[in-house]
Amino acid sequence: MTVVGAPGGEEARRTLLRDVRLVGGGPAPVDALLDGGRVVALASGLAPDGAEVHDLDGRWLAPGLWDSHVHMDQWALVRRRLDLSGARSAAEAATLVGERLRSRPVEAGSSLVGYGFQDALWPDAPSRALLDSVAGDVPVVLVSNDLHSVWLDSAALARHGHADHPTGLLREQPAFDVSAAVSVVPDDLLDSWVDEAVDAAAARGVVGVVDLEMTLGLDRWARRVAGGTRGLRIRAGVYPRGLDTVVARGLRTGDVVPGTDGLVTTGPFKIITDGSLGTRTAWCHDPYPGLEGDPAARGLRIYETDELVGWLRRASSAGLVPAVHAIGDAANAQALDAFEQVGCAGSIEHAQLLDARDVERFARLGVVASVQPEHAMDDRDVADRYWAGRTGRAFAFESLVAAGVRLQLGSDAPVAPLDPWVAMAAAVSRSRDGREPWHPEQRVVASAALAASTGGRSTVEVDSVADLVVTELDPLAASDVELRGMPVSGTLLGGRWTHADL
Ligand SMILES: [Zn+2]
Repeated sequence: MTVVGAPGGEEARRTLLRDVRLVGGGPAPVDALLDGGRVVALASGLAPDGAEVHDLDGRWLAPGLWDSHVHMDQWALVRRRLDLSGARSAAEAATLVGERLRSRPVEAGSSLVGYGFQDALWPDAPSRALLDSVAGDVPVVLVSNDLHSVWLDSAALARHGHADHPTGLLREQPAFDVSAAVSVVPDDLLDSWVDEAVDAAAARGVVGVVDLEMTLGLDRWARRVAGGTRGLRIRAGVYPRGLDTVVARGLRTGDVVPGTDGLVTTGPFKIITDGSLGTRTAWCHDPYPGLEGDPAARGLRIYETDELVGWLRRASSAGLVPAVHAIGDAANAQALDAFEQVGCAGSIEHAQLLDARDVERFARLGVVASVQPEHAMDDRDVADRYWAGRTGRAFAFESLVAAGVRLQLGSDAPVAPLDPWVAMAAAVSRSRDGREPWHPEQRVVASAALAASTGGRSTVEVDSVADLVVTELDPLAASDVELRGMPVSGTLLGGRWTHADL
């Protein structure tokens, strides 16, 4: 028996998953019957009754995972690029380029782009001739780790108007220009890369993402779904400059975008109110050490509170749920003030530094803390320096959970990889690469991290949507290292397999 009209627009088969253990459920294995895109029965010894049967041999079944903050186009671009951060010489970088071109040739007409090289420490000099010797006539553009240099072969130099350049190593503005040029790829090529990124996410158990690309993505995603990209649910966010368009179309947060078989919905209204920790532009109550007396000592405040209130009021009255980017404690206080004045709920994206008094305000106002735990691992040393004396309330996940705040986890890919297991492991352990946990009192229990990655679903229940992940290990009992690399054997979206390695 098949069911027409399930999410994805394909006929989601009636499926029986035999012998699964429910994450967060009882110890005994059960069978799970899926039909019409939903879980319709959970019991042992269910009759197949025409269903397609998969014997899962006691593997674990959990609600499918969400990444609540991604930039999908940028992630698709970055994951195609060659990582050169480990190259210790120009010759070694060139060898990596040659290997990559042999193992994964580039599409005709496009370039191989690499990133992350650090030539300051190399014993030999980068040269166009060295790249030519491994790349032939394929254009190669390598971007340095600080983005201020690019190293090109002759084909790329010709393409970017520097045919006569002696070395192929460009610095500053010419480098920025080439970098920007290779980030513009034709729609059909980018769509194919996004399709790969979607499949890779599904292979990690992901069933949906909140896409916060800065250009309005509703039509792009509709085109991609029509073109066969059906591995994820997409909530496509709207920024201030896209607000009029979305309001004119009458789309509210959660509304299905026509022609997407239910896979693409209008996402939140995203608005950015401060900068970031690494650039010391996150807006804080206290000055950054070393910047005292500087007009920018406390970071960047983008809106006066009444302006922010105006934006939230406009969006929420049109049915769009605000997602406010706020990193510093002052920015978070302002965002909460704005939510309180407007009287709407929504999320604060990042919420990295919080005044203790503001933590309970999230709970009281029903504001979701949308956090990226892996940033804490990337930025712990930066935070120890720039937020010295304040890090006890930085990335304060357990304080939020204890106060009853709804947490949702994300990656902010490409900043961190689009892999919710990485986010969960960082939230649960606050450690990586064997380092001492950073503020271990802010670790959350695995069940809280999982619920924050599933839209609040802590276990698979009858009548829930059949967005599911099958794992080899119990995520609630896995070690930090196991959680980070969780083996995923299958993913179902509305009862349809989007990944199967059974
Ligand atoms: Zn972001």
